[in-house]
Amino acid sequence: MANYIPEPFKIKMVEPLKKTTREDRIKILEKANYNLFAIDSDDVYIDFLTDSGTGAMSDKQWAGIMVGDESYAGARGYRNVVAAVQDIFGYTYVQPVHQGRAAEKVLFPYFIKKGSYSISNMFFDTTRGHVQLLGSRPIDFTCDESKDTGNYYPFKGNMDIEKLEAFIDEYGADKVSVIVMTITNNSAGGQPVSMQNMKDVRKVADKHGLKIVIDSARFAENAYFIKNREEAYADKSIMEITKEFYSYGDAFTMSAKKDAIVNMGGLIAIKEDEAMYEAVKANTIPNEGFVTYGGLAGRDLEALSIGLYEGMSYEFLEYRIGQIEYTGDLLREAGVPIQYPVGGHAIFVDAKAMFPHIPYNEFPGHALALELYIEAGIRSCDIGSYMLGNDAETREQIEAPTEFTRLAVPRRVYTQAHFDITVEALKAIKERASEVSGYRITWEPKIMRHFTAHLEPLKKEATV
Ligand SMILES: *Cc1c(COP(=O)(O)O)cnc(C)c1O
Repeated sequence: MANYIPEPFKIKMVEPLKKTTREDRIKILEKANYNLFAIDSDDVYIDFLTDSGTGAMSDKQWAGIMVGDESYAGARGYRNVVAAVQDIFGYTYVQPVHQGRAAEKVLFPYFIKKGSYSISNMFFDTTRGHVQLLGSRPIDFTCDESKDTGNYYPFKGNMDIEKLEAFIDEYGADKVSVIVMTITNNSAGGQPVSMQNMKDVRKVADKHGLKIVIDSARFAENAYFIKNREEAYADKSIMEITKEFYSYGDAFTMSAKKDAIVNMGGLIAIKEDEAMYEAVKANTIPNEGFVTYGGLAGRDLEALSIGLYEGMSYEFLEYRIGQIEYTGDLLREAGVPIQYPVGGHAIFVDAKAMFPHIPYNEFPGHALALELYIEAGIRSCDIGSYMLGNDAETREQIEAPTEFTRLAVPRRVYTQAHFDITVEALKAIKERASEVSGYRITWEPKIMRHFTAHLEPLKKEATV
């Protein structure tokens, strides 16, 4: 039974949405060469493209914007951010930056050696990119349970400890630059990491003298899952769980555009290593600007320190993750195949199961995203072979292990009716699934093609 947890807020400011017709949308897609990144956001009714930087700030955050101190050095907002991070995470040193990838760019050169390996429960794209840019090889040891999309497992974001140990034993700890724990595990579907798993990773790291960096975009959602799924933590607060979790790390990077509910912002924090902090400061100035603003306006820093606390409110998290669970439950009841259980920030629809007649190289995940747009003006994106792209050497299309269409949910933005419309749209598409055709790429750039590629449907009438 699907249960919608009511909003723990009321609406003070609204942003009008434009409604388009099915005919409009078919024309819009044709003009955009069937690439959802190429359409105007004004032509989107419900935007599930990403939960990054798309949240609605609170009246308190907007008030923070108004009192923001724009001093070049020593601004009040900086001190507020430092105090909030020390209070929540228990880390000594704090460096704001303009977004998550900037945190990676500034911090990673301190650890990562050329010719080494870097290990994660699963690197996020930009994190993986920065590891590679520094000449290290990123290795993912996501637990095997995450690969079985239909079966319940409470912590599909976990690191496979056996694989981690076996790898270090085989290659030697001196060949490993760093361990990165991504919470929640974004690329595995926003799936959480358990406290036990984090403790186990800490043990391995200590045994081999390795450092752990926590990639922290959805730290509060992860703590919510620990509270609800790991028995020993049922009576602990989100703050207590967060503090314990971070006690097992050495440093963190954070995209504050997710759980800290700001439109732009990021953080680096270091538990106690002063030399690491000196290196971070030295690297911040040429890349992000002076240390007390780190690429952000003073007002952004105010909104960030307030958002960190709001994102940890249990009532908020229960409502937010409740939206995803509600939608997931309705979809499962209707027989629409999804990654189960749902993650914290998104619903992943299994497009391979929905369109068994569309092969990986005709992009079922992308076909479903386009179909959702045609059906109801909903924007989502492919997480599958279309996004993965071609082999760097052979230029041949790589086959992704799973073909998902991701519906990432902005924070505090959409209401129950929006989710009901989404469920109805997916049900309607399921009814006519066999008529939906695959797509062919007519133009693509060399890398990161999903942002700009041109496509065409393989059967024109199929989308009408
Ligand atoms: C979004 C994200 C990043 C990158 O952050 P940006 O703010 O987009 O630069 C890094 N890691 C994870 C897990 C993320 O979700």
